[in-house]
Order: sequence, then C-alpha cells, then structure tokens
Amino acid sequence: MFLVPEREIAGLVTAADCFTAVEKVFASMARKSAYNFPVIREAIGHADALYGFKSGFDRESLALGLKSGGFWPGNADKGLTNHQSTIFLFDADTGRCRAVVGGNLLTALRTAAASAVSIRYLARRDAEVLGMVGAGHQSAFQLRAALDQRDFKKIVGWNIEPRMLGRLDEVARERGIPFEAVELDRLGAESDVIVTITSSFHPILKASQVKAGTHLACMGTDTKGKQEVEADLVAGATVFTDEVAQAVTIGESQHAVAQGLVAEREIVELGRVINGDHPGRTSSEEITLFDGTGVGLQDLAVASAAVDLAIAKGVAIEIDF
Ligand code: NAD
Repeated sequence: MFLVPEREIAGLVTAADCFTAVEKVFASMARKSAYNFPVIREAIGHADALYGFKSGFDRESLALGLKSGGFWPGNADKGLTNHQSTIFLFDADTGRCRAVVGGNLLTALRTAAASAVSIRYLARRDAEVLGMVGAGHQSAFQLRAALDQRDFKKIVGWNIEPRMLGRLDEVARERGIPFEAVELDRLGAESDVIVTITSSFHPILKASQVKAGTHLACMGTDTKGKQEVEADLVAGATVFTDEVAQAVTIGESQHAVAQGLVAEREIVELGRVINGDHPGRTSSEEITLFDGTGVGLQDLAVASAAVDLAIAKGVAIEIDF
C-alpha cells in the first residue's frame, strides 16, 4: 500500500485536478453509480473533539474508502490545525488497503472545487462581481477556485470580524483583482456570484439583499442547526446540491424544508446538470443556489487523484502491509 503524507499534497494536487475529480464524482452520483454511506459524527467526550467518518463507493472510478477525522478545538494552541482528517482508500476488487492519504489540505481543495463546479455550471456567463461572505481558513481556497470560473472584475467581501478580511484581500492582490470590504446590502446589490463560507448558526444574508440573476454557493452549512442565508432566499432560488439527503438534513436547505417552503423533490443534484439531464439556469433573472454539504465521495475522488499523482512523481511511500 501507499502512504501520501500531508506535506506532499500541496506540491502534488492543483485546484484544477480537484475540480475534475469532483465534477466527475458528482456526475457519477447523479447516474446512481456512486453513493455515500451514512455519515458518523460523534462528540467523543475527550478534548472537546468531534470525530467521525465519511465513506462511499464510486463504481465508475472504483474509489472506495473513507475519510476519518474531525474537529479538535484545542489544536491551535499546540500549533496544529483544528480540523484533522486522513483518507483511507481500499482496492475495490480485493478489499485490501490501497493508500493512506493526508486529508487536511485535500478537504479545503475539494470543498472549493465543489463551489467552483457549481459556478461553472450555474452562474451567468457575464458574471463580473464576486461576493465573499466569510473570511476563515476555507475562504481563501473558495475564492481562488471561484476566480478560475468567470472573468471576475471585482471582489467584495463581508465578515463578522472585519479584520479577518485581509485574507481575501491577499488572494485578490495575488490575482490582480480589486477587493473591497462592504456591508451586506452592498454585497448583495453588486454581486453576480456569492460564496458563503462561515460557521454561522443564524441567517446572515437576507432574500431582499440578493439581486435577480445571482448564483449563490452556500458552503458553510454542513451540520444540523447551522445557517448562512434566510430560508426565504433558499425558497426563492432554484436549489442544487451535491446530495439531496444531506441538503435537507444538514445543509443550507434544512431550514427552508423544515418550514415547508421548499420540498425535497424540488432540490436538484448538481450532477444532473453536469450530465445534461437538467438545464441548470434557465434565465438571466433566475437565482440559483448550490447547497454544498460536503460528501465523502469528494474526499475519495481527490485522494485517488493525489495517489495517482504521487505514484507518477515518485513521492508515494510504498510499504508492505
Ligand atoms: P473558520 O473557523 O476558519 O472560519 C469561520 C468563519 O465563519 C469566519 O469567517 C468567522 O468569522 C465566521 N463566523 C463564525 N461565526 C459566525 C457568525 N455567528 N456569523 C457570521 N460569521 C461567523 O472555518 P473554515 O474552516 O473557514 O470553515 C467555514 C465553514 O465551512 C465551517 O462551518 C465548516 O464546518 C464548513 N465546511 C464545509 C465544508 C463543506 O464541504 N460544505 C467543508 C469544510 C468546512
């Protein structure tokens, strides 16, 4: 079996590699060739940690395995990342362990890839202003991946703690695009595409603040109770997701569904659009919303790409196991 250590990932896998891997697995999910197994997530009663597994199988790529890890809030004091994860891949023909792959950077990249895929397929072609809500660890990855999808001329950003917006400004400078910190009213009025990536438990963006024709990628809500946008905004949009079962339970759609504003059957898997089985956006006035909940198959897809690249570049560590 192969080991691909966390330290190798940055030099191996690009945002474009992750985009391709995630696009393919969303398509496979919509063809019912790939499915996620039930997620386990437990407060373990030690170190305030939340620990769990996300797993699945893709019959097309033969990616089989799991991502294991979670959130250790005390890690920052130890000089470690609070979110820790490791991806285990198994040979679908024999069940033998094929690889163990560092999953921290890959998690950020696969999450950014999911919103980027949604922007590629659902945002208006002429989108020029990108709005970012949130400026934490994930936001820089989200921003870079989004910028690759359209010819954005300007970035506007909001964060509950404005001092954190320097992170977005840095990425904007790196790409030579002007950045402005704005209030939410202006963010909604100016943005053609909005990415939300916060850990909020209360709606931040209101329906009245978002203009017609906007595409939203709501990426922060991945747990019961979290919420980034008003349920009315979800109700007024055409809603797409990675996996409907997760969207209605732990995703941004959970609130609109619980309030009876959106029916589960109205939520469209993004993979259907990729496969050409759903038209996606049908007018320049329509608001589209991607509810990105994060599925284990995304992790397996990017980890498989990382293993192939690591073997090709000679940096995979082979061990007899
Ligand atoms: P982080 O802790 O680095 O940043 C959190 C962000 O949320 C910061 O911008 C912070 O200011 C903001 N925030 C916190 N409380 C808020 C509130 N009450 N109102 C408004 N903003 C608030 O976290 P991160 O690593 O950047 O992750 C952001 C979110 O994305 C988390 O909720 C995380 O669970 C989620 N996430 C989702 C996926 C997915 O696949 N969908 C994957 C990874 C992470």
